[in-house]
Amino acid sequence: MSLANGRQYLAIPGPSVMPDRVLQAMHQPAPNIYTGPLVEMTEGIVADLKAVAGTAHDAAIYIANGHGAWEAALANTMSRGDRILILGTGRFCLGWGEIARGLGVETEVLDFGYRAGVDLDRVAEVLRADTDHTLRAVLAVQVDTASSVKNDIAGLRRVLDETGHPAMLFSDNIACLGVDEFHMDAWGVDLMVTGSQKGLMVPPGLGFVFFGPKAAAARESANCVTPYWDWRPRANPAMFYQYFGGTAPTHHLFGLRESLDMIKEEGMQAIWHRHATLARAIWAAFDSWGEGCAIALNIADPAARAHAVTTVRMGGDDGTRLRAWLEQVAGITLGIPLGAPEPDMPGIFRIGHMGHVNAHMVMGVLGSIQAGMYALGIAHGPGGLEAAARVIAEG
Ligand SMILES: *Cc1c(COP(=O)(O)O)cnc(C)c1O
Repeated sequence: MSLANGRQYLAIPGPSVMPDRVLQAMHQPAPNIYTGPLVEMTEGIVADLKAVAGTAHDAAIYIANGHGAWEAALANTMSRGDRILILGTGRFCLGWGEIARGLGVETEVLDFGYRAGVDLDRVAEVLRADTDHTLRAVLAVQVDTASSVKNDIAGLRRVLDETGHPAMLFSDNIACLGVDEFHMDAWGVDLMVTGSQKGLMVPPGLGFVFFGPKAAAARESANCVTPYWDWRPRANPAMFYQYFGGTAPTHHLFGLRESLDMIKEEGMQAIWHRHATLARAIWAAFDSWGEGCAIALNIADPAARAHAVTTVRMGGDDGTRLRAWLEQVAGITLGIPLGAPEPDMPGIFRIGHMGHVNAHMVMGVLGSIQAGMYALGIAHGPGGLEAAARVIAEG
């Protein structure tokens, strides 16, 4: 018997839950794109996005998903035959590398696998071995949405500085901007990409590229770029339409204005803290359930776990069975396994907890998982919900 009728919860790691305020802000007739409120509010949107990114430098907006932002970042900074270093920790940086190769950029890939973050010592070795400084950029994801690992982006800047390597540092924050702590300028990141549909709580369709002076200088010699993807008019528009290379994404901008207002009202510190606490509640539940049973968090080291998404491993096909039960009976959709190289993939699922997520939503997911494990006869240790509740009680 289904108990799913009620508000559905899409708990996949993007697109994330859209706040009612964002949906309502988007519910209006088409605006004038030449003058009036839409035109007036765009400058403020760019300024507020930069504040969320922690940068005083440039931003370009694309009507695109994250893949479009990936390509824009590379097209504006690279020339065919350039070499870059790709740091694989799951799926997503490897995907960015595939785009690079498609553009004619050569990639050196350091793959740390599906269960660990970037090993800074190994990156240092590669940079030291590159005595001619042929590597033009180091590409990493802060949060890999497949493995749910969080990489040490500030640490990568330290390694570049310590090895005296001039490569630029590019960070993919598509999963985690507005979720996990990040400071683009303070951490010495030369370029960061993100999208609208995860921590920013807006439908998919906007890609953002933030770039500092070194990346801006690279644009001057890059030969991969084509007119539509050129970030210069977008970052420094003489006319309103140049922000978007054509018609503005009108309703996405209404939604984004509202979500940026919500972010301002809560404050970045409070937002990071909320996500950290909710993530720790999820980890506490699975740590208890996993005692003596075939249930484990994919990333063992808590310091290397994302606050935006959690990848869980169960035995056999228990992950797949549990996802189906939660969808049919509880009204919750969890994320499918993605990019796991191992044969036990049907045991893996992911929980998205990025953006518009609060304590009752997380406790609802965990309580429903507990019910699903009872219903399906999945063996689990005791005390998972109590452990999660205690984390939330302590805040
Ligand atoms: C979602 C995601 C992407 C891809 O974004 P799309 O909008 O699906 O193109 C890239 N990188 C990371 C880390 C992501 O989470």
